[in-house]
Formats: sequence, structure tokens, C-alpha cells
Amino acid sequence: MTDSTYRIQGATGEWEVVIGLEVHAQITSNAKLFSGAATAFGAEPNSQVSLVDAAMPGMLPVPNAECVRQAVRTGMAIEAQINAWSRFDRKNYFYADLPQGYQISQLYHPIVGEGRIEIEPAEGVHKTIGIERIHIEQDAGKLMHDQHPTSSYVDLNRSGVALMEIVSRPDMRSPAEAGAYVKKLRSILRYVGSCDGNMEQGSMRADVNVSVRRPGEEFGTRTETKNVNSVRFVMAAIEYEASRQVDVLESGGKIVQETRLFDPDRGETRSMRSKEDAHDYRYFPDPDLLPLELSEEFLADCRASLPELPDAKRARYAGELGLSAYNAAVLTADVEAARWFEALLAETGKPAEMAKAASNWVTSDLFGALNRLGRDIEDSPVSPRQGAELLGLVADGTLSGTLAKQVFEIMLETGDDPGKIVEEKGLKQTSDTGAIEAAIAGVMAANADKVAEYRGGKDKLFGFFVGQTMKAMAGKANPGVVNDLLKKALG
Ligand code: ADP
Ligand code: MG
Repeated sequence: MTDSTYRIQGATGEWEVVIGLEVHAQITSNAKLFSGAATAFGAEPNSQVSLVDAAMPGMLPVPNAECVRQAVRTGMAIEAQINAWSRFDRKNYFYADLPQGYQISQLYHPIVGEGRIEIEPAEGVHKTIGIERIHIEQDAGKLMHDQHPTSSYVDLNRSGVALMEIVSRPDMRSPAEAGAYVKKLRSILRYVGSCDGNMEQGSMRADVNVSVRRPGEEFGTRTETKNVNSVRFVMAAIEYEASRQVDVLESGGKIVQETRLFDPDRGETRSMRSKEDAHDYRYFPDPDLLPLELSEEFLADCRASLPELPDAKRARYAGELGLSAYNAAVLTADVEAARWFEALLAETGKPAEMAKAASNWVTSDLFGALNRLGRDIEDSPVSPRQGAELLGLVADGTLSGTLAKQVFEIMLETGDDPGKIVEEKGLKQTSDTGAIEAAIAGVMAANADKVAEYRGGKDKLFGFFVGQTMKAMAGKANPGVVNDLLKKALG
């Protein structure tokens, strides 16, 4: 695949898909946006609700500086304009999960303006997706319909939790681009530490805007599929919705601007309600809150606190550390993997020298093992220090590659240090020429016919002798020494 172009072939010709995403990301913070109530996931219903979150009369919101800081840092990470002056507005609507009767959001003056995110929708294909804005807003509560046969319950734990709404430009043109965008955005949020990116727990969800048009023509009318909570579902919703729209248009119908829901079980979207206009919400500046004014000092602190971001890290791994493009991409996609890898490098004491071997070991052996065990790298059974010790034993010739794999398996099972395992199990690689020569003599005596063939010119048999000798040495002979001694003995 050389690009990520996506065309739908209809009965009357080709169609192009246009996609814009509004991602709601829960800001990592111990407290809510305007109250001190806790935000932990999975708490008992209504155990994390302050009087402000329950909208008791006379309660006043107090902005949480940490939430503001995280939104600003996120904006800086996507190279966006930061608005030193922003303001909160009330978005009025009635719903049982919204005790205030309005959501505090930022319509007119968002805290973050235009920015951009680079995506790689297919290998080697690069594209920039524009970001229109990021604003801060409150989350609503949650209705629980499965707790009682005839009533619905309300859980206000999420009520007032701080969200960033990250609004993209309609710059995406395929499900693959939208998938790559959500993954990249999640990666950046996790690096910055402003959102944990956990889509299963609802920390990140996307409203998916989709329209179709004839290639090159003006944008068509869009629909918005709400609250899609996985990368796979975002892609599936776009695929379904785009082909539904093509069918409607080709059979002479019109697309109505509406809000839809994605049904993951059936892989389809369904109409929920026709789209309201902004004026239906009667937005107005929240009279309980002063505008947010960010000082130069606050902005400088935010900037100084930003970590190295995924694109910069990936370029450094490929450049300075000399890793393969693949390893650089895989190790930097997730901040925890990059952290683990860097801790490992530091533990080796020779980061420049060990980088390549370490990256190969992490991306193949360690990732393979974690995959098998169904574990995240954060709870790897082997620590960076133990990994570095293992790599050191290979580098100094104590272990061959094969022995290192055996030792690693034992480390995974027992949690022991590799040095201890090598001692206890006698897994050390040997360069003892006497022992290796004896093994070679045995192999040659048992295979006199092959020795004759080899000497008669059948060079390919050399590998056979290496294999047999290693077997006779129980895999513990130094392969370099085996090679040298075999050449001498057979020559
Ligand atoms: P609203 O505020 O009414 O929801 P916006 O103009 O802010 O509308 O757009 C919301 C989202 O819809 C943005 O992510 C934008 O990129 C996307 N969008 C706008 N127009 C289209 C279109 N014609 N097709 C697909 N997506 C669109
Ligand atoms: Mg919108």
C-alpha cells in the first residue's frame, strides 16, 4: 500500500469519505473540574459526588488548576495555539444524568486553538491532520438501566469529571486514517500524562463525523455517531456509515444532519435524533466563573514540563541510537514501552553500545513473552535491571543466544536474576577448548562417512558438524570457538 486513499465504488461512480473526529478525553486528575470529589474508576455508584456535582442550590464551581494545566500541556504537545484568555459557557439542556440542567463547557473562547497531529495510516505514508480546538468541559452522570426491572438509576460519579474535547478538522479520508489518528492522539495524551487513554473504561471516546462526496467536490452533509469507544469501532462505524450514505444518495435520497449511535454487536449505526443547532442550547457565559487568564509563568511551566514526544523520540531512536525503523516505531508508540526500554538501556551502563541488541531483545523476546502471558509492560515479570543483566551476559560471552533464551524462560517463571540461574543450572557457555575438542572428536568418529564426504568437497555439511558438536556440548559451547576448532579438525 503506497497511500491510504479510500474510495467507495457505487452504482453511479466513485465516492470519497470525509471524516472529522471530536474526541472526549478524561483529564487525569484526582479531583473533578469544579469540585474536590474523587474521580477513580469503578467506585461504588454515587460515592464520589460533592454537593457541586449534585448541583445543590447555591453551590459554586471552583476551577481545578491541574485540569487547566493538563489541557494547556496537551495543546502544546500538538503544537497548538494556546489562548491565554478563555472563558466557560453554559450549554443548557435537560437530561436525567445532568442535575445542573446545563453543562459547563467552552464554546466561544476555547483554551486551545489550532494545532496538528502527524499520522502514519500505512507504512511510509505520512499525513497531517488539523486540530480545530481543544476545550475543557464537564462530563455528565450515567443512567443505569440494568439495575431494576421498571426503573432506571442515576450514578453521578462521573458528573463534573473534567474532559478535554479535542476537535479535528474534516481532514481524514479513510477508516485507516481515522484509526491511525485515534491511536496517535492516544499515544500523545499518554506521553503528556493528561489522559490515560483507556477506551474500555471510557476515558477516551470519539464522536465520529462522516460525510461522502464525489472526489474533489464540496463536502456533503455529515452525520455524527456518538461515543464510539474503541479504535476498531471507530473504523467500523465509518465504514458502515459511509456506505449507508452512498446507498441513500444513489437511490435519490438526502442525508439529514443527525446524531447516530453505533451498535458494536451488529456493526451498524442507528439514528438517535436530528442534530440540534448551537442556539438550541442557549449558550451563555457562566456567571459563576471568571474568565481563565493564564500567566506567562504558568505557560512557561507547562512547556518546561513536557516530556520528549513520540515523533521526536522515534527520530532519536532511529538516528542517535541507530535502531531499525521498525524497532524505533514499535518502542515509541506507547510511552510505557519507551520508558521500560530507556530504563533497560540505563541499567546496561553502556546505552550507545547496547541499544541495538536491547531493542531487538525487547521487541522480540520481551514483547513475545508479554503477549503470551497477556501482560502489559508495566507489570512485566522481568525488571529492566534483570533484562540488562541478561544482555550483559550475552555481550560478555557467558551466554550464547540460545542459552539466553533458555535463561529468559526461567526468569519469567521464577523471577530470579539471570546470574543466579546461570550459576544454579550450570548454563554458562564454555570456551574450554579441551572439552570442545573432545566433543568434536566424538562427533567425527560417529560420522566417519560424513567426514569423508565433507573432505570430498561437500562444504554444506559444516553446519551439520556444528549442530552435532553443540548437541554434544548440551548447547553450552561458545559457537565461535566451535567453528574455529571444527575448521581445524576437519581441514
Ligand atoms: P458542531 O460544532 O456543530 O458539532 P463543527 O463544525 O464544530 O460542528 O464540526 C464538528 C466536527 O465535524 C469536526 O470534527 C469537523 O471536522 C467535522 N465535520 C465538519 N464538517 C464535516 C463534513 N462535511 N464531513 C465530515 N466531518 C465534518
Ligand atoms: Mg461539536
